[in-house]
Amino acid sequence: THFGTRTVPLGEKQGLVNDVFFKVASRYDLMNDLMSGGIHRVWKDLMVARLAPPRSGSRDYKVLDMAGGTGDVAMRILDASHGYAKVTVSDINADMLAVGAERARSWRYPANVDFVEANAEQLPFENNSFDAYTIAFGIRNVPRIDKALSEAYRVLKRGGRLLVLEFSKVDVPVLDKVYDLFSDRLIPPMGRMVTGDAEPYQYLVESIRNFPDPATFSTMIETAGFKRVTHTAFSGNIAALHGGWKL
Ligand code: SAM
Repeated sequence: THFGTRTVPLGEKQGLVNDVFFKVASRYDLMNDLMSGGIHRVWKDLMVARLAPPRSGSRDYKVLDMAGGTGDVAMRILDASHGYAKVTVSDINADMLAVGAERARSWRYPANVDFVEANAEQLPFENNSFDAYTIAFGIRNVPRIDKALSEAYRVLKRGGRLLVLEFSKVDVPVLDKVYDLFSDRLIPPMGRMVTGDAEPYQYLVESIRNFPDPATFSTMIETAGFKRVTHTAFSGNIAALHGGWKL
């Protein structure tokens, strides 16, 4: 793993990631809007549309939104299910969760969400306990992605669904160059403007570049045991939605 110019051992990586989100927790959502021009909202809506959570039924529909941060995805899932889904937002960073819990008080369905501090590599949940596992812009921050995927598999019920939304490799000529320039020249300075510190954002740019391409990542999902693995490119594959089923 590269961080700026030096190589970071896997064991240290989580510490750096935690620093980033500790520094930005309170301004995290504002930064998302600024840096993506609001498009992250559209990608998240597309993810939730793919999930299509049920709006009624005879039993609970339980979703684990891992690396759920301030709860942006959880809120969308609750709204899409008209409050029927039960969402557990889980994140390694208590500050992100605290912002989310505070915000959840003004959501349409505040009663159906809970917040649990946990590491995606080692989940405090029982086997076969969720109908869906979602993770948006989180998995690239996890040092051992294979561990996170097998934990996702373990906690899902049979018939359960995995959806991973993540920044990916732009696959459109010219757009890829523009995106590279944008990442190097604009993201770190914008980060400094809003949070007073460019380095966390330099890290974010690196983590996006280091994340496996869609074919490699799809193979990792299959290796964890998932079937019917799919990849959908959003916005020239700036972001990608990966899906799979525990069958
Ligand atoms: N899903 C939210 C969203 O889309 O707005 C938040 C995404 S944010 C870019 C990444 C999140 O991953 C942070 O809240 C961070 O604390 C969390 N994270 C990083 N490493 C993690 C780990 N090992 N286990 C769980 N969460 C982790």
